[in-house]
Amino acid sequence: MTDFTARKVLVLGGSRGIGAAIVKRFARDGAEVTFSFAGSTDAAKALSDDTGANAVQADSADRDALIAAVAAQGALDVLVINAGTLALGDPLTIDPDAIDKMIDVNVRAPYHAAVEAARRMKDGGRIIVIGSTNGDRIPFEGGAAYAMTKSAMQGMVRGLARDFGDRRITVNSIQPGPTDTDMNPAEGPMAELMHSFMAIKRHVHADEIAGLAAYLAGPEAGMITGSMQTIDGGFGA
Ligand code: NDP
Repeated sequence: MTDFTARKVLVLGGSRGIGAAIVKRFARDGAEVTFSFAGSTDAAKALSDDTGANAVQADSADRDALIAAVAAQGALDVLVINAGTLALGDPLTIDPDAIDKMIDVNVRAPYHAAVEAARRMKDGGRIIVIGSTNGDRIPFEGGAAYAMTKSAMQGMVRGLARDFGDRRITVNSIQPGPTDTDMNPAEGPMAELMHSFMAIKRHVHADEIAGLAAYLAGPEAGMITGSMQTIDGGFGA
């Protein structure tokens, strides 16, 4: 376990699911944690009460609000960009507004948040985005746009790793496979199909993702940058 005492961590989209597990992990390990959320006020308050983390309401789809929330943190040690949405469906009939909202949250927001954080980030800081194994492999119908957003994260982390490398800031993507959250419950209607693509046929636990985030933020990971860290039970193997 890394001691993150006196380290400043911002988790974008931290009120539920994977983001909440990451908030809990960094708070447990001593960090000064702030997280953003969009609509889940009750969950955000409960998590804040439970962990001592600071909760800030900021919709990642609102660029000005997002940039203000990141800038307000000053010099971060770690930025985790977790906020994401999932719009699945027939590309011929799915609501195009839902696709554009997903692109706003899953692509535009991570880019602007990462750049804004880097303006003030300490040398040796860490930027971690939660991508998806679907950035590599989309073995079912209806996921083209979601996969597109997660593939976009791959290009972003490779490029920003080059841009910020002279300050020893690392930029990486964690690519989860099916993970038990509200977005993709382990007992949900898609579970059996998801498990059929996996070598280890169960959902990932959100705290397993949080453990990988803590590793990437820790001292042993200083030379991991521009990389995709896949944690998917062999979904993409
Ligand atoms: P959940 O839907 O369970 O939680 C999403 C979290 O992101 C919530 O805290 C939510 O806050 C926040 N969020 C969503 N939209 C916004 C927004 N516009 N602005 C600010 N915060 C927002 O999702 P997961 O925990 O499952 O997913 C987290 C990330 O992991 C996503 O990027 C997702 O694509 C990725 N992922 C998930 C997988 C899975 O199987 N679960 C697999 C691979 C990747 P609020 O409730 O307040 O809106």
